[in-house]
Amino acid sequence: MAHHMMFFLSFLVTLAAAIEGIHAVDYVVTNTAGTTPGGVRFNNVIGSTYSRQTLISATNFIWKTFQQNNAANRKNVQKVSLFIDDMDGVAFASNNEIHVSARYINSYSGNVKREITGVLYHEMTHVWQWNGNGLAPGGLIEGIADFVRLKAGYVPSHWVQPGKGDRWDQGYDVTARFLDYCNSLKNGFVAELNKKMRTGYNANFFVQLLGKSVDQLWKDYKAKYGN
Ligand SMILES: [Zn+2]
Repeated sequence: MAHHMMFFLSFLVTLAAAIEGIHAVDYVVTNTAGTTPGGVRFNNVIGSTYSRQTLISATNFIWKTFQQNNAANRKNVQKVSLFIDDMDGVAFASNNEIHVSARYINSYSGNVKREITGVLYHEMTHVWQWNGNGLAPGGLIEGIADFVRLKAGYVPSHWVQPGKGDRWDQGYDVTARFLDYCNSLKNGFVAELNKKMRTGYNANFFVQLLGKSVDQLWKDYKAKYGN
C-alpha cells in the first residue's frame, strides 16, 4: 500500500513538472557587445543575472496588468531572448527577441540600471501584448508598452507631463499618460482594451469600454489639465 502511495505521489510530481515544463518561459541573456564600452558597462552595472530576473518580473507584472491569469489568454511564447548589441537607437522587440543598444547604455547619464529596467518592461510588453492582428495604430501599441512601464514605476525624467501632446495616438509617453487617464475612469480599461485587440482593432473599443469616442476622451483629458 505504502509502495503504491509513493508511486502515485511520484507520478503527481512528474505530472506537475511536465505541466510546468509546458507553460514555463525560458529567458536567455546574451551580451554580444562585451568588448565595447557599453557592453562592459552593462556587465559592470546591470549584468545578465539582474536582466534575466527583470524579464521574469516584467512578464509577471504584464500578465497581471493585462489580467491574463492563465495560459489560454496569453500569447504562446516559450522563449524570450535578450541581446545587448553594438547598435544605434535604444531598443526594439521582434520575434520574441529583445535587442538593447550597448551604445545607448554607454551614453546614458544618470541611473542606467533603472533606465534599462524601464526599457525592458516596455520591450517585454511588446512580446506579450496583442496588436489587433496588425490593425492597431502603432502609437497605441507604443503607448500601451509605456503605460506598463509607467505602472511599474519606471517613468524616466525625459517623459512629458500628464496632459501634454498633440494627438491621443502620438505614441510612447504621450499615449501612455492618456491611457492612464482612461484607466482612471475605469480600472482595468487597458487590460480590457488589450483583450479586445487579440483579434482585431476598432476605434469603437473606446466607446464600448468608456461610453465616449477616443476623440472626446482626448478632449476631456486635455481640458482636465488646462490644455
Ligand atoms: Zn516600443
